[in-house]
Amino acid sequence: MQSPSGGSVDAQTIEALDAARHIDLVHEHAAHNYSPLPVVLAVGEGAWVTDVAGRRYLDCLAGYSALNFGHRHPRLVARAKAQLDRLTLTSRAFHSDQLGPFVADLARLTGKDRILPMNTGAEGVETALKVSRRWGYEVKGVAPEQANIVTMAGNFHGRTTTIISFSTDPDARHGYGPFTPGFRSVPYGDADALAAAIDENTVAVLLEPIQGEAGVIIPPQGYLTRVREICTQQRVLMIGDEVQSGLARTGRTFACDHEGVVPDIYIMGKALGGGIAPVSAIAADADVIDVFTPGSHGSTFGGNPLAAALGHEVVAMLSTGEFQENARRLGEHMRAGLEPLLGHGVIALRVRGAWAALDIDPALMTGYELCTRMAQHGVLAKDAHTSTIRLAPPLVATADDMGVMAQAIADSLRAA
Ligand SMILES: *Cc1c(COP(=O)(O)O)cnc(C)c1O
Repeated sequence: MQSPSGGSVDAQTIEALDAARHIDLVHEHAAHNYSPLPVVLAVGEGAWVTDVAGRRYLDCLAGYSALNFGHRHPRLVARAKAQLDRLTLTSRAFHSDQLGPFVADLARLTGKDRILPMNTGAEGVETALKVSRRWGYEVKGVAPEQANIVTMAGNFHGRTTTIISFSTDPDARHGYGPFTPGFRSVPYGDADALAAAIDENTVAVLLEPIQGEAGVIIPPQGYLTRVREICTQQRVLMIGDEVQSGLARTGRTFACDHEGVVPDIYIMGKALGGGIAPVSAIAADADVIDVFTPGSHGSTFGGNPLAAALGHEVVAMLSTGEFQENARRLGEHMRAGLEPLLGHGVIALRVRGAWAALDIDPALMTGYELCTRMAQHGVLAKDAHTSTIRLAPPLVATADDMGVMAQAIADSLRAA
């Protein structure tokens, strides 16, 4: 490895490097597609992480909800270690003894017939888009190459070229054209606009039941129910992107559960890998997912034994309802701690389960500035937009931890 000064850096010296050197190395040798807070983490346990200087922080980002079960949950680490000693990769050219139990239990959890495992969330979204188009042509009878899919303004579904083709965020799109055709955008939360956008060539509606990256935007009560009704009436697939909102974050297994709505296709990711490996999947019934035939879709790593073992353990952990309950309880503590900040630097607060966003007074400071100050107070969070910060602690956090979080935010706002 080359250091910025030109000397080589061996494994021993890496441990001894101070935070500034680590940050320099990353600045020099990693692409500049992120602007992380100046915190260099070395160890994580539960809801807490420790930096290279031994300072502890409460992790209120939780890997964008990939760490719903916290850092290094003992059950997940034990399952991963056991699998590492047996078999890690087969490719789907062969069976493994881990895939069957995983997809059977995930199908049961989702109430769907079948699972298609992939790795990243974006691949899960791509899989849902492909299955919808194929279903449109082969089952619904849409004219060749005419399929369209309705998407939502303010969405975040990942970073592939097709997915950013229907992003409404200029930063995510700039310089990446030409874009994939076949998508039309409507305002999020507006069921009438959605109904008006659908025509005979519409095969699917893709939405997040709560928009995460947009700043934990919760649609009006009844919206998901209307979307479900419209999709059923128009014979259009409803795709619920639950990559961030799903798997206990909102206090239910899926955010769609809050309205008792069942989409035709669930997309899962992030927490499905237990914070250890990337695991994503879609779940759908046979009348939809069986349009996939051998050779029509796949992934070298999708459903690999290590991923399947982790996903299987995650499904088992979700089946008890314990983490969903923790999320509800944490959410109450978050609300109680954060509501007093309204009018004191905070102009809006949104909470659903253990997922919250604060809009801060733009005259006071930016979200990035607030997060920088919070880190100095021992709490890590991330700005969602210029004036919004998002809070998503691991679901193993305690009521006391939520007190620490609220105090750090109050102190950081007061310092302004
Ligand atoms: C994070 C996210 C994705 C993309 O997941 P990656 O693993 O980063 O590809 C897709 N949809 C939603 C709602 C997400 O939050």
